[in-house]
Amino acid sequence: MLVNMKEMLDEAVKKGYAVGGFNCASLESALAAIKAAEELNLPFILQHAPAHEEYIALDIAGPIMIDLAKKSKVPVCVHLDHGPDVNIIAKALRLGFTSVMFDGSAMSFDDNVATTKLITSMAHSLNVTVEAEIGSMPHNLKGEMKEYIPEDFYTKPDEAAQFAELTDVDALAISFGTVHGIYKTTPKLSFDVIKQIRLSTGDLPLVMHGGSGLTEDDYKKAISSGIRKINYYTYEALAGGKSVYDIVNKKPQGLLYHDVATYATEVMKEDVKRVMKIFANV
Ligand SMILES: [Zn+2]
Repeated sequence: MLVNMKEMLDEAVKKGYAVGGFNCASLESALAAIKAAEELNLPFILQHAPAHEEYIALDIAGPIMIDLAKKSKVPVCVHLDHGPDVNIIAKALRLGFTSVMFDGSAMSFDDNVATTKLITSMAHSLNVTVEAEIGSMPHNLKGEMKEYIPEDFYTKPDEAAQFAELTDVDALAISFGTVHGIYKTTPKLSFDVIKQIRLSTGDLPLVMHGGSGLTEDDYKKAISSGIRKINYYTYEALAGGKSVYDIVNKKPQGLLYHDVATYATEVMKEDVKRVMKIFANV
């Protein structure tokens, strides 16, 4: 069933676990996440990221995601990840998304507050939830990452509290050492940053981006420190990619594409199930 993020995250706050946000960069990744959630009977968030527009456009992915969510046996929130401006957010709302993220992390604090506020009032009037971001994160989506000092990116707890108060957001993405994409070195995570932000923002659900590629222990520590939504995609996609080599090696001739796609979907589903169980503590 199609729901927004509110009830799902309220429940996660109450019980102290996290809900996974999985990107739909292809039909296979969406099917992998839906099947995993149904097999485990867990709610989850199906996301479209504008960074994946070149693989599957919002116009094409959006209606499919909503249809899959409506037909699903488990609660599914259909969410726009990293909306860069009001136009794309309005488009997601028109398509029937039940949740949107506005990413104003590259803006000044005041501009981020003003735009996020505008989006929250627009979205809330449609019963759509809003995630925003305060503090920024390094990214290594295509090997572009240079040397950086992790501490320079950490979200400041007082800014997070002020931002939450001024914008009325439903969830807040924070920076505490994770990276978007592939980790080049072991990430330097600060669980203290999460704990301090949790203290300063009360029960507001905190979101971990760049949730791929961490250890089970890292996830558990982040969740016990206050993370309630974890975005996970890159390492699921890597598992799917690796499965293609495996199936090609098993059958180097006469392989049909739909068999490759079905096999990759199954492998990604297993990877999603693995992390869903950790996030939900089951
Ligand atoms: Zn992100």
